[in-house]
Order: sequence, then structure tokens, then C-alpha cells
Amino acid sequence: MAVSKSDFLNYTRCPRFVALAELRKEKLDADLSYAEYQEQERLEQIQEILGNMFEDETYEHDLTQKVNAQLEALMPFYKQVEIEAGGLANKYFGGKSKYAAATKNQECFEFNQKGIKYVCYVDIYNENKQGINIIEVKATTSNKYLKLLGSFPKKEKYPIFYFNVDKNTYFLKDEIDYPLNQEMPDEVFAKNKAKLFDRYTDVGKYVYDLAVQRYIIEGEYRSSGNAAALENIHYYLAILNHEYVFDGSYIDGVADYKKDAAGHELIVFIDLTKVTAEYQKIIAEDEARLEKYIFALDGSPVPMGIWCERKKMRECPFLAPICGKDIPAKNSALNYLNNGFGFKNEDNERLKGLDLINHGYLEMLDIPEEWITNPKHHIQRDAVRFGKEYIDKEKIAAGLSLIEYPIYHLDFETMPCPLPRFRGEKPYMQSPFEFSLHIETEPGKCDKLKDNYIFLAKTNTEDEREELVKKLIEYIDGDKGTLFAQNVSFEKGRIKELAAIFPEYRERLMKIYDRGFDLMWLVNTNAKLYEELGFDKKRSALPNYYHKDLSGSYSIKKTLPVFSDLSYANLEVKNGTEAIVAYANYNKMTKEEYQLMYQALIEYCRQDTWAMVVILEALRHICQ
Ligand code: SF4
Repeated sequence: MAVSKSDFLNYTRCPRFVALAELRKEKLDADLSYAEYQEQERLEQIQEILGNMFEDETYEHDLTQKVNAQLEALMPFYKQVEIEAGGLANKYFGGKSKYAAATKNQECFEFNQKGIKYVCYVDIYNENKQGINIIEVKATTSNKYLKLLGSFPKKEKYPIFYFNVDKNTYFLKDEIDYPLNQEMPDEVFAKNKAKLFDRYTDVGKYVYDLAVQRYIIEGEYRSSGNAAALENIHYYLAILNHEYVFDGSYIDGVADYKKDAAGHELIVFIDLTKVTAEYQKIIAEDEARLEKYIFALDGSPVPMGIWCERKKMRECPFLAPICGKDIPAKNSALNYLNNGFGFKNEDNERLKGLDLINHGYLEMLDIPEEWITNPKHHIQRDAVRFGKEYIDKEKIAAGLSLIEYPIYHLDFETMPCPLPRFRGEKPYMQSPFEFSLHIETEPGKCDKLKDNYIFLAKTNTEDEREELVKKLIEYIDGDKGTLFAQNVSFEKGRIKELAAIFPEYRERLMKIYDRGFDLMWLVNTNAKLYEELGFDKKRSALPNYYHKDLSGSYSIKKTLPVFSDLSYANLEVKNGTEAIVAYANYNKMTKEEYQLMYQALIEYCRQDTWAMVVILEALRHICQ
């Protein structure tokens, strides 16, 4: 049987996975074809892009099959990242590089152990005078690694990585000649570095991938009696540079990602040679577990945990249908608000996340009353127990009194592309391609169609942002009224970025920016705002409204059906992910399909701002 790098990651999650996977595969001893390997890589790469485009929790996990097929549109971006990384490997490492967008052209390594064949393909295989460089390309960004910061108490924070401009490479500061003790104590550095060794963190998952890669490569060298060559192999990640700003140059219509004005390259490397060497002991233990699981093939239930990666891009495919099938879809023990730390039980032990489910606490009301210390959780329980909504009319009314008219209900649809497409963009920057605006001139005076203004880009290849900006400042008077949005910081963030890219409209845009107010401050809360309005600290922190159907979420898809008969269920485009894939697929559509999808995008975005109008009206009624 063959185990790919992806299989390795999955099969070592827990003892049960391999049994569930193999039972489905029917043939335990099947080999792994190129086509199967490519398919695995394709799925992983799509997951990776989506994982970087969305915060895991905000991604719509219930994508339809149709949308999954459309996610294909994101693949060219991944391939382009690989090609750009290959070009820069040649530039900075010298020698010869083997890389290609197609997996079958990549260098393959494999070795056999106990009847199991371990296989991996290398994204970039570089040979220069110093030896061999193995470079794994990931469509993620460098800022994740630069967020590993340390300091002395109350002193400035510093990253644990040092950037060598000449090599376009990050190095861990403890691996080079660097005055680390002037920036942070050793233990602080070690604590941050340890995150690289946790395969379930944002930074650690890529390091684990590279370490598994190294394990398989070293396995091949050792089994072929060539262990001496291992000393000259170096291991790197190639990732997108979060500081890179695209200047909008194209050659024959193709973006030219040369160095930016500040000297940044699009891709940077991270030297993980020593880290992955340290990691080999852990990978060997994981491999031993994997063999044990494969030979035992025991599908009996095991505890769920971090390894299931619930609500993450790499969520175990067996979580929803098998292991976690008893977790209620609504008001489960996992739906308590802001409950990352879980609950303390009678023995002072903390139970959180899937551990609650493991211990049989499935429903929200299964959690013993004595464990509840957060007043928000009492509100949630009472809403479920008595079916009665919770309302703090005074706070809602106080919030409403702050809103100036006209209200500009605004929502952007954006494309967070791994590769910047237009001038002034950075990797994964949220590039607006659509907005919907409902203008409410006085309380309740807003027509769904007549007072709605939409801008939607006609292509995904031309830069239509200036047109979008012009429409925005044409419709919104920055001298009066309120910019109103669900999660207004997102809309404000896009306006600020557009103001920086188009300085000629900066003044007008920033006036709009300054008038932001969030729907969430009315439905949920904004503790600081309500304290300023004279409410005490405890009350200010509590939600203004709660209904059992919210099930621990204030997303507009949850609040709209609570306050109205409207929902997103009947729309062709139902969520932000679907909107992005629809836009990304423009070029693959027939004329008729394009027209239908264009209209569907209009309907979806309009629904987002109309939902705000409807909810706001419902809140006014509640306060009467
Ligand atoms: S859902 Fe969790 S426990 Fe179940 S097979 Fe997957 S990783 Fe293992």
C-alpha cells in the first residue's frame, strides 16, 4: 500500500481515521497512482487557498457540490504561486531547479517500510554548489510567521525570525549570529519557537508538512545506502510576502511580479533545515503510530479533539457524518458565546471544545448550571429553556439614538486573491468587486429596489475599482449621515485601502470612513460604546438581544430569519464564498450563464444590505 504526504497527515490524526478511510477504500493494498496523488494535492491546495482567504470560522462549510466544482477557478492562482516561487528559487539559490505546475514533473521520493510505501513529490528541487535545496511552496503569507513575537516585560516586541535581504530568506534568530538576548529572554523565544512544532497551529501545519517531506526524502536516501548525502540537503518553505505591493505592471496582459518599489520580492523563503531536523524524532513516532493503526485497522470510537480540526479547512471528513454525528446542529454545548476556555467542572478541571462532547455534554442545556459563570451564557440558556427572547430595550434605544440620517447601509463583496491582481494590492488583500448600498433617508423610509444602488464589476480581469470608488462617493454624502454595516470595520478597512490606492478620492472616502456604525453594536453590543453612554460595565458587556435561533452566532444569516421572514435559502448565490467563486468563474461561463450569475450576484449583495434595513426596522419596533 502507498502512503502519500496527505495520507500521512490524515492517518496520524487518531487511531480511528485509518480504519474509516480504508474501509471505504475497499482495497487495502491498492497502490497510489499519479492521478490520485495529483487529486490529493489539488484538494489540499484549494483548502489552503480558502484557509488563507477566510478566517476558518467565517468560511461556509456547507458548500454545495456545485460550488466545490467551481472552486477549480482558484487553482490557476496556486499554480502561478508555484511558478513565481520557482523563478525566485533560481534567482536566489542559483544552480538548477526542477519545478513545474504539474505534479508529475516534480521530483519524486519514496521508500518502503514494513510493506508500506511512503511517497512524496517536491514542489521545487534545487541543486547548487552547496548541495540540494528542497522547497515546499505554500500559498500562505509571511505575516503569520512574523506574528511570532517576543519581548522583555513591557518592552518593544520583536519577531523570532530575521530577514536576510540578500538571500530573500527568513532565519530563526537563534540559528544565526544575532544579539537575541537584547530583544527577549531565551524562554520567551523558546515558547514562540515551540509553535512551529505544533502541527495544529497556523504556522505549525506547514512546518509539519515539510518535516514529513523530509522524513520521506531521508527514508529514500537511507534505504538506497546514500545517507552521507543528507548533510547537504536544506529545507525551506516558499510563501507569499505579505509586504509585497504590486505596481500594476503587466507584460502581454500577464502580471509582472518584479521587486516592488520598496525592494520586496513577491515570494520569500524560510529556512527550516534545523527545525525539520529536530522534528524528525516526532515524525518517526508518528510513523510508528501510523503503522500500528494500519495493522490494527480498528474503527471503534476514540475521543475527538484538536486533531479533528473542527471548523478548519482541514476538518476531518469523518467528523460530521460519523464521530461527531450526535452534535446538535443548533444550540449544542459548543455554541456558547466566546467560550474558547470552556467550563470548569466540580473537580476544578476545565472542559472545552470537543472534550465536552466526549464527556456526553451535547446540548447547551446538558452543561450543569453550576458550571456557568458567564452571564451571557445564562442568557443563552434561558432563551433555549424558556423559548423567550432576551432584550435590553434601553441599550438598543440608546444605540439607535446615535445614528444620524440618512443611513447608508453598505456591503462590499471582495476577492482576497493569493496573488495581487491590480495596482496597489498585496497578497490576499480583500479587493472589492461589488457593493450594495441601501439609503434610508429617515427611519423606515427605504425601498428595497428604488433606494438600492449596486456596483458590480463586469469582468474579473480589468481593474474596475476606480469606477467603484466614483460610484461610492457619488451615492454617499460624506458630510452627513451614517455608514452602516454588519461588521463595519471590514467596510471601513476596504474604504481606507481604496483611499490609499486612489489618493485623488482620499478626502471624500475618509469622510465616509469616519461615519461608521455597526449593526452588531445594536444587536450584540459594544462594551466601550455603552459604557460611554452611561451604562454600567457589566450591562455594557452583555448582548442587547438574544434568541435561541441565533444558536450562539450574530452573523447576518442567523439574525435575518429571527427578525423577518426573509432568508438566503432561495438565492442562487447564498454566501460570501459562493459570491467569490461566481466572480472568479466569470471567464468560464457562457454568455447566458454569465448573465444569470451576474444577476444572482446583484440579488445576493442586495439581500445583505436589505437585511440590515429590515433588522434595523425590527429593532426600532422592539424599542417602541
Ligand atoms: S473525526 Fe476526529 S476522532 Fe473521528 S476519525 Fe476524524 S480525527 Fe479521528
